[in-house]
Amino acid sequence: NLDFHPTGRHFLQIPGPSPVPDRILRAMSLPTIDHRGPEFGALGLELLVKIKQIFKTENPVIIYPASGTGAWEAALVNTLSPGDQVLMFETGHFATLWQKMARRLGIEPEFLWLPGDQGWRQGVQADMIEARLKQDIDHEIKAVCVVHNETSTGVTSDIAAVRRAIDAAGHPALLMVDTISGLASADYRHDEWGVDVTISGSQKGLMLPPGISFNALSDKAVKTSKSARLPKSFWAWDEILEANKHGYWPYTPNTNLLYGLNESLDMLLGEGLEHVLARHQRWAAGVRAAVNAWGLEIQCQDPAVYSPVLTGVVMPDGVDADAVRKLIYERFDLSLGMGLGKAKGRMFRIGHLGDCNDLTLIATLGGCEAGMKLAGVPLEDSGVLAALDCFARHPLDANR
Ligand code: PLP
Repeated sequence: NLDFHPTGRHFLQIPGPSPVPDRILRAMSLPTIDHRGPEFGALGLELLVKIKQIFKTENPVIIYPASGTGAWEAALVNTLSPGDQVLMFETGHFATLWQKMARRLGIEPEFLWLPGDQGWRQGVQADMIEARLKQDIDHEIKAVCVVHNETSTGVTSDIAAVRRAIDAAGHPALLMVDTISGLASADYRHDEWGVDVTISGSQKGLMLPPGISFNALSDKAVKTSKSARLPKSFWAWDEILEANKHGYWPYTPNTNLLYGLNESLDMLLGEGLEHVLARHQRWAAGVRAAVNAWGLEIQCQDPAVYSPVLTGVVMPDGVDADAVRKLIYERFDLSLGMGLGKAKGRMFRIGHLGDCNDLTLIATLGGCEAGMKLAGVPLEDSGVLAALDCFARHPLDANR
C-alpha cells in the first residue's frame, strides 16, 4: 500500500527474527575480509570458543551458513542411516515440520502426541517417551528428537526430564534438541542435560539476522557420525571440525554475519547469560499478566512450561486472529506472529525476546490492546496497566 508511510521504528514483535541491535548492525557493516587469511582465522577461533558458553558446553559447536532448517537436516544426516527409527513428540508446528523432514530423508519417525489440541498446549511428556523406549527392547529407535522452545505455541519443554526418561529406560538412543528459538533467551544446558545434538539459529535470542545456524555436539554424536550412512557432504561434521581447528571453514563462511555473532556474544556474555535469562522471564510474566487482564486464554496450559520467549494469545471463538493481526500491523506498524499450522486463525503470538525492554513491550501490548478493541474483541481489563504493574512490582536490576 503506497499510501501507508509509517514513521518512527517498526515494532518487530514476532518470535524471531527479533530486532537486530544497532551495535550488531554496525559490526556487520565492516568490510568483508579474506576468509582464508590470518585475521579471519583469529576471529573464527575466538567465536568457536565463545559460542560454547551460550550452549553451556565444553564440546564443539558447528556453525553453518544456513537457516535453522539446515541445522535440523545436519543433525539428522550426520547421525542416522536410511530406515532408522526416531522418536519425536508433537508439541506444535515446528516439531511437525522436523518430523516431515525426517520422513523425506528416509528416516522413520514415530510421533508421540497428546489427544485433541492438548499436544499443542503442553510440553513434551517425558513419561510417554520413557514408556515407549522401554518397549523397544531391541533398541531399534536410534534417536529421540524434541523441540525445546516450540515457537508455534509458546511452550518450553523440560529437556532434563527427557534425558532422565531415556536413562530410566536404559536406552542408548541419541537425544537431539531443537532450541532454535530458546537459545540465549530460555535456560538451556547442552552438557548438563546430556544432549547429543543441539540445533539452534541466529535470528532469535542471539539478535542476529537469519542466516547462521548451529549444531552443538557430544562425543557420542561425533562417534556415531563416523558410521552413519545417510548421504551428506555440505553438512558433514568431519571436514568442518577439521577446518575449525584453525578457525576456518571448508567453504566460504558468511563473514559479516560472523562479525555480528562475535558482537552478539560479547553483548550476551558481557551482560551475563543468567541476567539475560532473568530479563526474558520477567518480560514473559508481564505479557502474561496483560493477557490475563484482557480475560483471554494463553495457548500454553501448563504454567510450569510457559515460554520466556513468546506468548500465544488465543482469540475467542468466532474471532479471526489473522484479521486482528492484520489490523494491528496496518494501524500501528506492529508485527505479531501468526497462528501456524493447526493454530492458524486461532491465535497470535507476541515475541518478547532479544533486543527489547519494558517500554517496547508496553508499546507492543498497547498496540495489541488498541487493535483488539478496534476489531471488537471483548476485553475485560487493561492489559497494559497489568503489565506496567507487574514490571513495577518486579524490578530486575534492583541490586545491580
Ligand atoms: N524450529 C523452531 C523451533 C523454529 O522456531 C524455527 C523457525 O522459526 C525453525 C525450527 C526453522 O528455522 P528456520 O526458519 O531458521 O529455518
